[in-house]
Amino acid sequence: MDKKETEELKQKLFNKKENGWNTKSAEEKQAIFEYAKGYINYMNQSKTEREIVESSQKIAQENGFKSIEEYENLKPGDKVYYNNRGKSMYLAIIGENSIENGMNIIGSHADSPRLDLKPNPLYEDSEFAYFKTHYYGGIKKYQWTTIPLAIHGVIVKTNGEKVKVSIGEHIEDPIFTITDLLPHLAQDQMKKKLAEGIEGEDLNLLIGSIPFDGECGEKVKLNILNILNQKYGITEKDFLSSELELVPAMPCRSMGFDSSMIAGYGQDDKICVYASLTALMKIHNPQKTAVCIISDKEEIGSMGNTGMESHVFDTFISELLNKLGINRPNLLEKIFCNSKMLSADVDAGLDPIYSSVSEKNNASYLGRGIGMNKYTGARGKSGASDANAEFVAEVRRIFEDNDIRYQIAELGKVDVGGGGTIAYILANKGIDVIDCGVPVLSMHAPYEVTSKLDLYEAHRGYEAFWKNA
Ligand code: MN
Ligand code: MN
Repeated sequence: MDKKETEELKQKLFNKKENGWNTKSAEEKQAIFEYAKGYINYMNQSKTEREIVESSQKIAQENGFKSIEEYENLKPGDKVYYNNRGKSMYLAIIGENSIENGMNIIGSHADSPRLDLKPNPLYEDSEFAYFKTHYYGGIKKYQWTTIPLAIHGVIVKTNGEKVKVSIGEHIEDPIFTITDLLPHLAQDQMKKKLAEGIEGEDLNLLIGSIPFDGECGEKVKLNILNILNQKYGITEKDFLSSELELVPAMPCRSMGFDSSMIAGYGQDDKICVYASLTALMKIHNPQKTAVCIISDKEEIGSMGNTGMESHVFDTFISELLNKLGINRPNLLEKIFCNSKMLSADVDAGLDPIYSSVSEKNNASYLGRGIGMNKYTGARGKSGASDANAEFVAEVRRIFEDNDIRYQIAELGKVDVGGGGTIAYILANKGIDVIDCGVPVLSMHAPYEVTSKLDLYEAHRGYEAFWKNA
């Protein structure tokens, strides 16, 4: 065979793993950058699951979605959502075909690793006031010291009044930080293992240093409480019923001389929330019922009544069946068995600096498009739902027919570690599920990195799935 023929054969037979940017026209690149601007804006308005649900509900309402309580009956084309306690959300567009034939679902999560305040957070030490924290999700603790932090969340009083807190985002706001030891005196600390360099109980937020002008002990603490009382009308006891989250006070921004990437907090998994939510807004009168899940608590095991393990999602779908006037025993289970889902969660992108943890043939690369994981899990795929080959083929067909850049990868080398998503929870109901999201660098760090191309391909891929699965 001559050189040209050999090259043609290679072109035909090899799985060509191409840099996505090489495949995009100038117009397409423009569309990618424009879409990323909307994402960055969304990220800068919402940093916690509560704020994401609030922003997402607003977007849904602007696009004709109504709360399920507002519908007496549902019919094809209707757009409906259910806001679960302000922390998770399910949306649906009723399909033209009978829902009995199954739904097309895309599910992501809005919670991200962070530091939560303890129920009794406030104390004074050596004339400094501090908040005690308890970290949420898998973090490398040292990354959370000496960075600007903002406080977001709610304080609920016994009379039901809910005080919203968001401080540290505007340039005129004060920020907060967790101090670390100066290198001059850190000889012992520097010898510790990285995991032990900063102890969980030392993640204390510095919040003030002026003593109250009066005669008593703990004057700095009193001064802080006095400020909080004037600003929010709360007393120390009200922290007992609060959910206050510390998140990096750093805006999400465009990154690189070529502006090809995005740096920002909480892209796991708000990037998939945005990509799927905005895709759903482009769906009108779908053949199959299109369902979008924005879940909570994924980072701590999907428990709780706003996590994916709860039955609230089933209740929402049952309520759709009630309002379609077709519900009957076991119909819900049957519909789940006929349904298909993309578990929209981020994937670990290969980081050349730390490439030793990845197996290059089976890693996701930033810029090569949406990243699919047939399975996640750890050590022998343990805990993975492992998508069926038939379903993987169907998703491949949809992506290839619609010219979506995609890659199928594993989360790191065999036996190096592992992870999970909400995929298995939905798979347990009988749904065909595959993980399908955006590759990330520095996952779970205060500042995560993604590619604008992958974000855009995820968005296009989700739209294609809802229209064609
Ligand atoms: Mn995630
Ligand atoms: Mn995560």
